[in-house]
Amino acid sequence: MNKQAELDKIAKEIENCNICKIGKQGVAVPGEGNPDADVIFIGEAPGKKEAIEGRPFIGRSGQLLRSLIRSIGLDDEKDVYITSPVKYLPDRGTPTSEDIAHGRIHLMKQFAVIKPKVVMLLGRVAAEGVLEKKVKVASEHGQVIEERDGIKYFLTLHPAAALRFPNKYKPALEEDFKKLKKIL
Ligand code: URA
Repeated sequence: MNKQAELDKIAKEIENCNICKIGKQGVAVPGEGNPDADVIFIGEAPGKKEAIEGRPFIGRSGQLLRSLIRSIGLDDEKDVYITSPVKYLPDRGTPTSEDIAHGRIHLMKQFAVIKPKVVMLLGRVAAEGVLEKKVKVASEHGQVIEERDGIKYFLTLHPAAALRFPNKYKPALEEDFKKLKKIL
């Protein structure tokens, strides 16, 4: 089976997953992008717009994320893969630890197919979902926080933080993307 077919199969599993749907709403947002991507961006959970259309990062945070991706010379649709640990919109907006732990099962299957070189962790939930560890994003972002089996895990801020506090976090996020470009 080719990589896209394998990712489609995982997407179907997510659409049919009753555990994923506990305390959530909307349609599944499995993720999308290049199945051969060197870099994969991991967010938190779909927002309202994503949960209607079934596509990741298409709302305001998504516009910022996609413009940052383009700012380092990558095409946000053709070059990278974009997803999140939690595949449905949580009723309360913020995913629970259980949501994150369960979502990890699907996410790890996606990783095993894509085999990225760099995993861009967009904030705390991404770090917890991928590395199963707590991080202090404000003080630890802007660097590879772990390197395992040849994969670099780079921690940065979630774009929503930069939208909420643009003076404080937008320049920091832009700097992190420049650093990402250097390690690609
Ligand atoms: N925030 C995320 O983490 N993911 C999305 O798809 C949209 C907003």
